[in-house]
Parts: sequence; C-alpha cells; structure tokens
Amino acid sequence: MSDAVIHVALLPSIGMGHLIPFLRLATFLLHHQNNIKLTLITPHPTYILHESQLLSRFHSSFPQVTLLRFDAPQPPFPFSLSSNSHIAIPYFQRIEALRSSVVQALPPLLSSLSPPLTFFVSDFFMISSILPITQSLSIPNYVLFTSSTTFFTFFSHYSVFSSSLPYSLEAIEIPGVPPLPTSSISPFLLAPNSIFKKIFMEDSPKVTKVDGFFINTFEALEHQQLEAVKGGKVLSEMPPVFAFGPFVPCEFEKEGEQWKKPFKWLDDQPSGSVVFANFGSSSVFGWEQIKELARGLVKSGCRFLLVVKDRKYYKEEDKKEESSLEEVLGDELVDSVRKKGLVMKEWVYQSGILSHEAVGGFFSHCGWNSIMEAAWNGVPIFGWPQQGDQRMNAEVVEKSGWGTWNKNWGWIGERLVKGDEIGDAISVFMNDESFKIKAIQIKDEARKARSAGGDCEVALQKFIQKWKKNV
Ligand code: UDP
Ligand code: UDP
Repeated sequence: MSDAVIHVALLPSIGMGHLIPFLRLATFLLHHQNNIKLTLITPHPTYILHESQLLSRFHSSFPQVTLLRFDAPQPPFPFSLSSNSHIAIPYFQRIEALRSSVVQALPPLLSSLSPPLTFFVSDFFMISSILPITQSLSIPNYVLFTSSTTFFTFFSHYSVFSSSLPYSLEAIEIPGVPPLPTSSISPFLLAPNSIFKKIFMEDSPKVTKVDGFFINTFEALEHQQLEAVKGGKVLSEMPPVFAFGPFVPCEFEKEGEQWKKPFKWLDDQPSGSVVFANFGSSSVFGWEQIKELARGLVKSGCRFLLVVKDRKYYKEEDKKEESSLEEVLGDELVDSVRKKGLVMKEWVYQSGILSHEAVGGFFSHCGWNSIMEAAWNGVPIFGWPQQGDQRMNAEVVEKSGWGTWNKNWGWIGERLVKGDEIGDAISVFMNDESFKIKAIQIKDEARKARSAGGDCEVALQKFIQKWKKNV
C-alpha cells in the first residue's frame, strides 16, 4: 500500500453553522490519519466576525493546515448599514453571491495546489457551482451535508416532487422513510421567488453526480434514514453516504477568556437545574419576542442561562433597541431575571456549556450542530424551530424520545409567542424524567459511535484506504 500523502481540500460555506462542522471534520481527519495534508479554503469576507476569529484559532492549533481564502464580494445591501462589514446581511443573498464567486475563484486555486488533490470536500450550498469545476479538473468531489440525514432525504428527493410546488399534499412521500408533513417544510422553500428554493431546484438534481456525502450523524439517531439513503431507496443512483458523526467539539472553539464567564455562574447552580436557551449563530428574534422569552423563563420557575445576541446580529429595525438589557426588558423584569438566571448578550462557548453538569435542558432553535452537541452531552431538547431544516431536525429529536417541540409556535416572526406559554412549556419539559433518561442513552450511543473502533473510525479508515490505494 502506498504511503504517499493524501491531499484533501475543504471548502465551507459562510456562517458558523457551516464553518464549525468543517473545522471539526478537519480535526477528525488530522487525528485519525497519518500522511494527510489539508488545505482549507474559505470565502472572504465571512458572514459574521466570529468566523474569522475561529479560523485564526484553528490556524494556531493546526499550523500544518494551509489556509487559503478567496474574494466572495458581498451583494449590494438592500438597506443602509453602518461601517461594520461583518454585520450579517440576509444569508441567502450572500450564498447566492458566493455561488457566483466560486465559479471564478476556484479553478485557478484548485489546479495550483500541490501535491494535486486526492479529493475535495465542499459545502452542500454550492453543489451546482462546484461540480463542473471539479469534473473538468478530474478531482473527486465529496460534499459535507451540514444538516440531518432526514433533511438530506428531503433535499435529495426535492427535484422529484418539486414540480408539484406549492404542495397540495399533507405529507411528502419519500421512499424508505416516514412521510414528511408539509408543515415541516420552510415557507422559504415554497415561496415562488425564494433564493433558498432556487438553490434546491438547481442542486437537488445533481445529488447523484457528487462522489459521496458526509453527514454529521450516527446510526442510533437516524438509523432508518441512513438505511434508506445508503440502500438506494431514496434515490436508486445515490452515491455513497458516510455517517461521520457526531462531530466532536474542539478546544480551539473557546473564544479568548470570555468563554469562562457563564461557567462561573453555572458552577454555583445545582446539577441538572439550568435550562440553557440559545438560538443559533445568527438569531433573528426581535426584542418584543426576547422580552416574552425572558418573562417565560422567569415563569417556568427554572434556573436559566439565556443568550441573546449583540445588536450586530439583528435586523436594522431592532438597532434602535441596541440599548442595555435593562432598557429592553424593564427594571422589574431584569430584577426577576437576575434572581433565577443569567442573560448573556455575546457569543458563548455553547458546546462547553452543554457539557456542564448544571445544565439539565436545552431550549434550542434546532440547528443541526446544536442538536448534535446536545446528543454528545446527553442534554434533552425543547425545540423552537425557526426556519430552514429546523422542524425536520426537531422531529428527529422528538422521534428518538429525548425532547419535544411546540408545533403551534409558528415559523420565525409568524406570531409573538407569549411568556405564559413559554413558561408552562419549559416547566413541563424540565420536569419530565423520561427525556433525561433517553438523552443519556443517546449520549452513550453517540460516544460509542466515536470510540476507538466505533462506527465512525471504521467508516473513515475504509474510506481513506480506498484513496491510499489510488495515490
Ligand atoms: N454557537 C456557539 N455560541 C453561540 C451560538 C452558536 O458556540 O452563542 C455554535 C453552536 O455551538 C453551533 C453553531 O454555533 O456549533 C450553530 O450551528 P447550528 O447548526 O446549531 O445553528 P445555525 O447557527 O447554523 O442556525
Ligand atoms: N431569505 C430569503 N429567501 C430565502 C431564504 C431566506 O429572502 O429563500 C431571507 C429572509 O429575508 C429571512 C432571512 O433570509 O428573513 C433569514 O436569514 P438571515 O439569517 O439572513 O436573516 P438576518 O440575519 O439577515 O436577519
């Protein structure tokens, strides 16, 4: 067998929910393989500032990885913004611009890499822009699908049923998996002029042209879905699909000294008593909803750690509210909040918080990385899915019994969910022992999948051997 170096390049899309799993995959490859050279290619500028900070920390931890970046200019912004170029502009407009940028930037970049690439791993948001490039350069192209296998079945089957949009059916039938209720499909995938829908229309038919998919999941969590995709039930010409999850959080994800702040507070709370409320890397709640959220958490009677993002994450209309928490919540509510909770207005080290023994429940928007971090740490989830894939992800949790979600709270911005409703739901959730028991079982399975000789390592070794024979 050849000892030649395997050279792999990775290209994440913009957004922390994409960069984090790519960096965890890179770390997994480095830890489990000798003779591997990694090149990480990232778009510039990033979507939010934390991405560039995370990249620097990754670089300090793994100086042997080559970091390259290419210009992915931002599209003209539909409304005026101040000088901070890292303010999040609507995500799918940035994705659309990125898909055009790679067409120019990638061919010279990929063909100049030395030694020549063994294979390339790109993000699922760029499939149809990248495939023609990798095909013309004869570079095998794998895709890291950064969501659940359940959402992958939907994505890969999308081109089959998209002709019947908007759906008149109550559920979408996908071979080999339970029907997906249409209510779990994001309105952005139904709206006629949506960019999200356009991307799906372009990329879904190309699924069979990709050399293979990597998914951050594991058998015990999505057995039926994995069996259906791997067994060719979802698509008869489905390329190989590898379950490499759960991706394990890494040391370099800790940000400066500030990550320690909530831990000081958590250290003083009883075991399993705290509900941790955090809604992703670019939460889009307005302040009215945040106020109700805080009221609800107070009403639940539980201790809580609530994360609301700094104003730079928020839409223009909320900027006038950039004021202190006191001004937003009012003194009375702030007093009640402080009796039972801690509110953070900045980025937190989420995967670390989920591993703290004081945390007994996770109130989450059900981004897939968040769900996998909760699985890794055995923390039950109460879901409040907001958009995209999140309802389908929430269903994965509910079906496997370690959490639940409220089907009547609507998609993001559809309605103001009142504090009373939130409080009652969280109180019932935090007192349900069955979720805790099931979450511990999920954690055991997650750890087993990632143990020495576990599913993940075996799958990776088999996959890499194939390439070692070819270099
Ligand atoms: N995250 C974090 N701190 C925060 C918010 C988010 O560390 O304050 C991390 C979280 O742990 C996860 C990622 O950002 O790894 C968010 O990805 P996810 O798929 O859960 O949601 P998205 O932000 O993509 O909607
Ligand atoms: N959006 C869109 N078309 C789509 C999907 C999303 O226009 O197909 C926009 C929509 O305006 C929505 C936003 O994307 O409010 C949600 O994503 P983002 O994270 O960009 O919101 P922001 O952080 O800019 O508030």
